[in-house]
Amino acid sequence: MKFATKTIHAGQHPDPTTGAVMTPIYQTSTYVQASPGDHKGYEYSRTGNPTRNALENNIAALENGKFGLCFGSGLAAIDCIIKLLKPGDEVISTNDLYGGSYRIFTTVFEKLGIKFHFTGMSNLNNIESLVNSNTKMIWAETPTNPMLNIADIKGLSLISKKKDLILVVDNTFATPYLQRPLDLGADIVMHSLTKYMGGHSDVVMGGAICKDEKLAEKLYALQNSCGAVPGPQDSFLVLRGIKTLHLRMQRHCENGKVVANFLKEHPKVENVYWPGFTSHVNHNIAKEQMDDFGGMISFDLVGNKLEDAINLVSNTHFFTLAESLGGVESLIGHPASMTHAAIPKAEREKTGVVDSLIRLSVGIEDIDDLIMDLKKALDSL
Ligand SMILES: *Cc1c(COP(=O)(O)O)cnc(C)c1O
Repeated sequence: MKFATKTIHAGQHPDPTTGAVMTPIYQTSTYVQASPGDHKGYEYSRTGNPTRNALENNIAALENGKFGLCFGSGLAAIDCIIKLLKPGDEVISTNDLYGGSYRIFTTVFEKLGIKFHFTGMSNLNNIESLVNSNTKMIWAETPTNPMLNIADIKGLSLISKKKDLILVVDNTFATPYLQRPLDLGADIVMHSLTKYMGGHSDVVMGGAICKDEKLAEKLYALQNSCGAVPGPQDSFLVLRGIKTLHLRMQRHCENGKVVANFLKEHPKVENVYWPGFTSHVNHNIAKEQMDDFGGMISFDLVGNKLEDAINLVSNTHFFTLAESLGGVESLIGHPASMTHAAIPKAEREKTGVVDSLIRLSVGIEDIDDLIMDLKKALDSL
């Protein structure tokens, strides 16, 4: 099955009892047993629910994996994956990590005895020097948020295989439409399904996908033991969202390219961060491991003034000022005061999150309206 067919059909078949073409919302916590243990594969909805299972099988197919698991949020998926580890274990991750991932690592799991190292992952040499006998996992994000840094997944997998580590890739920004980390040697792919996969800014959900059966068994045991599963209604919404993933992503990429090039030429704009530019660090790796460059773009302003950035993000009309990303509608954000406000100024500036940095999630509206909107707000600075 090709990708565009999988988005619509994988994991789903007409309902055996009624013939309903769309997977029903099985709004039930429990399932009848004819005699103890004699049931149709479902006992209790924390352990398994047909609507959720359809979605789990769908995301597994999209990532070319074998096993999929869904969670109540992206962070609940992260929580489950890190619980594969034990006190004393060490994880190597990127210094340009999604803020919520950084928070759960440093405020929740460090307390439980797991040690995290954060380094620039654009350069693989930074990683090898941090590996020691306690290292158990590499946690990568590519492209990163908000600087769109690119890590070489194949290169990371060579290091992790040599040292017997688990390589996890947070594939939220790229989605399997653009990048399939398991094919490049990753062991687990993690998603915030809240973003492009759901695609309509109406659900919070997370996912994890792997190929290895032993690893899957451990993850299923944790999912069932810790219990952070999504409900059937939300599972249905994400299943429906994914049916248009390929069409949405195609338009996100097209619009993203036009917006990135427009910003690059605008006299009020200093730097534009978008992996499609040949000047972007690791552009060649992005070109190799991704099928296109996506609709996430960051840029900063000439003069780097905080008030210019605040003015700009408050004056766009179609680019709505809000957290999150990946929905059909365009969003604009100011990382220094929103998503990255918790990180000290000196620390965030080291990775490029300066006062005037602005992040766009370019939606699938008409490109002429989007450009006019940005032009008006930029020209008025
Ligand atoms: C949003 C996001 C998460 C966290 O997912 P939630 O669904 O918000 O819990 C993790 N990683 C990345 C890259 C994200 O954008």
